[in-house]
Amino acid sequence: MKFEKQKLSKLIEKYDLLSDISMSNPVLWLNDHPMNQSTGEQFSFNEVIEAKERLQRFAPYLKAAFPETENFDGIIESEIKEIPFMKKWMEEITGDEYPGKLLLKCDYALPISGSIKARGGIHEVLKVAEKLAIENKLIKSNDDYIKFCDEAFRQFFNGYKIAVGSTGNLGLSIGIMGAKLGFQVTVHMSSEAKEWKKRLLREKGVEVIEYSSDYSKAVEEGRNQAALYPGCHFVDDENSKDLFAGYAVAALRLEQQLRDADIIVDASHPLFVYLPCGVGGGPGGVAYGLKKIYGEHIHLFFGEPTQSPCMLLGMMTGLHDGISVTDIGLTNQTEADGLAVGRASKFVGKLMEPILSGCYTVDDSFLFKSLKAMWELEQIFMEPSAHAAIFGPISLFSKGKSYMEQHKLHMENATHLIWSTGGNMVPEKQRQQFLKTDI
Ligand SMILES: *Cc1c(COP(=O)(O)O)cnc(C)c1O
Repeated sequence: MKFEKQKLSKLIEKYDLLSDISMSNPVLWLNDHPMNQSTGEQFSFNEVIEAKERLQRFAPYLKAAFPETENFDGIIESEIKEIPFMKKWMEEITGDEYPGKLLLKCDYALPISGSIKARGGIHEVLKVAEKLAIENKLIKSNDDYIKFCDEAFRQFFNGYKIAVGSTGNLGLSIGIMGAKLGFQVTVHMSSEAKEWKKRLLREKGVEVIEYSSDYSKAVEEGRNQAALYPGCHFVDDENSKDLFAGYAVAALRLEQQLRDADIIVDASHPLFVYLPCGVGGGPGGVAYGLKKIYGEHIHLFFGEPTQSPCMLLGMMTGLHDGISVTDIGLTNQTEADGLAVGRASKFVGKLMEPILSGCYTVDDSFLFKSLKAMWELEQIFMEPSAHAAIFGPISLFSKGKSYMEQHKLHMENATHLIWSTGGNMVPEKQRQQFLKTDI
């Protein structure tokens, strides 16, 4: 896809924010047409319900295969909790007081692969496994899925391939789950991928192919190579509905968690959710599910690095995957490896048009300050990408006054939910390195 220079000068005329974005200044973009009916929706909520039921069927298997899922009975879920010290830190660095409640959604601690990818990625692998097992009469959908632990299943799946392109975490979730079931898994890793992620996968018998290019290229290469093998399932991070459905299941679970915690969401109790965004599938799936549940009472914001604001750019211009961050002179270089994506998913961007309240960008330097503060004040370790969520309320309170006024929101009753997307798998040595980083 070639982007023409004349087009850029037209865009700069049309969108005031674009020059700030291209100079990598942190911005807040507000979507001024949410709640428009999107035409011909490409995804049905039914797929989310089906994903939820599928994960339920696999719970006995997951509980046996991954003992760390025992806390939630084989369901891959994380808790929500208040982070009062971090709230104070955020207020101090901005000299502002934030009304309402601040909560953390702890996907950094999700079992099996330690990031939000454990939702979508594992769901897609399980769906592939289930379909193969049913087609080959190894199992019926009302059987006890603990059978998937049998050696005969592993032998059977070893005749099949799964491939994926990734900046790291999706590769981890697909690789760990796929290898456990017995599949031959190939992960195409982009240049950002951290060394320890590649090593961990290789230890599990996963084939890792490294690229010196960015995420979009790794995905494209993976897609092309997978097409050469009949029977190879390619997990398409840019277009997959099965990934998206798996992510969206989080919304149904969160609804219950908020209810259990007596947190009200209605016309006078708005809920704000801040999600770090890469290609869009993870945050998009969660946002899609939450919007179905809470409608106009929820306000959804995506956070991206100042050098990689692909979703912001795609949605603001309506060009989606027709524009890359490099087209406007950005580098797509960021320490937030999970968010180092130059071109957003069009499938997700289209679905977000009527849903998303806005996107904001955040400097890498903030991500590391926040990482250190979170560790020292709350003893929670989140990887740099996840800290893009922390900047959400900061961006909203400093640049989004017009949004709160326009929607006449009862901010004193608001709940702000920071979606922490990863961190648990980061090895000690890498943690220490992150904690020392000051840029
Ligand atoms: C992948 C990832 C995201 C973003 O998810 P996308 O589906 O790429 O938008 C956010 N945070 C972390 C830690 C990730 O690994």
